[in-house]
Amino acid sequence: MSLTADQIDNAARLAGTPLYAYSAPALRDRVQQLRKAIPEAGFVYSLKANPNLSIVQCLTGQGIGTEVCSLFELETSLAAGVPAQATIFVGPAKSPREIRRAIAVGIKAIIAESLEELGLIDTIAAEMGVVQPVALRINPSFHTRGAKLSMSGKPTQFGIGDEDIDGALALIAEARQIRLVGLHVYMGTRILDHQVVAENTRNVLALADDIIARAGHGLEFVDIGGGWGVPYAADETALDFPALAEAVNTMAAAWKTRHRGTQIIIELGRYLVAEAGVFVTAVRYVKSSKGVRFAVCDGGANLHGAAGQAAGFRRNFPIRALHPRPGDTAPWNVSGPLCTPMDVIGQKVDLPPVQPGDLLCIDRSGAYGLTASPAQFLSFASPAEVLVDGPRITQIRAPGTLAAHLAQFTPAELTPLADAPKTLQTAEV
Ligand SMILES: *Cc1c(COP(=O)(O)O)cnc(C)c1O
Repeated sequence: MSLTADQIDNAARLAGTPLYAYSAPALRDRVQQLRKAIPEAGFVYSLKANPNLSIVQCLTGQGIGTEVCSLFELETSLAAGVPAQATIFVGPAKSPREIRRAIAVGIKAIIAESLEELGLIDTIAAEMGVVQPVALRINPSFHTRGAKLSMSGKPTQFGIGDEDIDGALALIAEARQIRLVGLHVYMGTRILDHQVVAENTRNVLALADDIIARAGHGLEFVDIGGGWGVPYAADETALDFPALAEAVNTMAAAWKTRHRGTQIIIELGRYLVAEAGVFVTAVRYVKSSKGVRFAVCDGGANLHGAAGQAAGFRRNFPIRALHPRPGDTAPWNVSGPLCTPMDVIGQKVDLPPVQPGDLLCIDRSGAYGLTASPAQFLSFASPAEVLVDGPRITQIRAPGTLAAHLAQFTPAELTPLADAPKTLQTAEV
């Protein structure tokens, strides 16, 4: 399901390098596989992982909703044709404008992350004359094991602490224009152990049991988060998906007997898109520096920040030559165009002989690539993104242009030197 060498060659010919290329069948397959294996749950795609409009369209076309965290993500989701009713809005610092827009389009629920936000949603909904469905994002007291980045069970800016749940329920009971329809917990990201997912699910559902009892009424949904990982480094192993599906299905079936009508939602970013994408970078120069081989490429950590960071931790993404040349492999450092030593996207990567013009691929790059990178650093043009669907290759993001780059700046009205404050000219040193 991943792209063939021919497809990647064609994509690079069409759009140039550096480049992100995605496989449409891989995206569609992933959603279908999930829906088939875990029929008891609903799924939403977290746009944070890859907000490209066509990627959102490709995934949601298979019958899943979206989780958005900003006004632009919300508008992207709507532009992709996702019904507002299939969208939830998360995020710790929502603005009145974002809340107003979410209410106006009629999203499934605003996920409130604080008591103050609940109050603000109530006020805005009252101004707009509607009763707005809300869900509570809970920061529970339990942690997740095995996540590379844990987001709960400790002090964070996210969600409402479980010590404040009664306060939140009381606030909602007194409020006039909000209605509690759901709960949301997001434990952390890059989980590769299905037992950890199972444990998190068990904990979240137990907490939901408790909150539902305290609220005294049923809910439309419980969003149990996700954070399912994909392996990047050579020593990481993929999630045992069949085991994960079985564990979740079993718990979901038991849940259904207690709470008929309360859907379990799983929100996923990385797991849906990571393996469908490849980052393609062209070697510009090869050199040896104090005995170490460097392949210096046209795109690096500026466009694939995660690979750069991975190199910082000495954990490489999967990197390969698209057309391996004959000869022995040797360790190479793969670097980009930035004038900072941090721009190394692969350290001691075993590669066959490398020459200028060769294409190198970083696999599993569909999530947290371009939009999670410092792409403005040193003012290189942002790359194209293409979607490959069988014989069809579509450019789904145009590469940056010089005109667009310069247009972001507004010339300042500078004070002419003659009028400059005297202190500047006569300052005592
Ligand atoms: C980042 C994030 C996600 C997506 O996480 P993945 O690990 O990419 O699946 C989902 N929900 C929330 C609240 C997030 O912050």
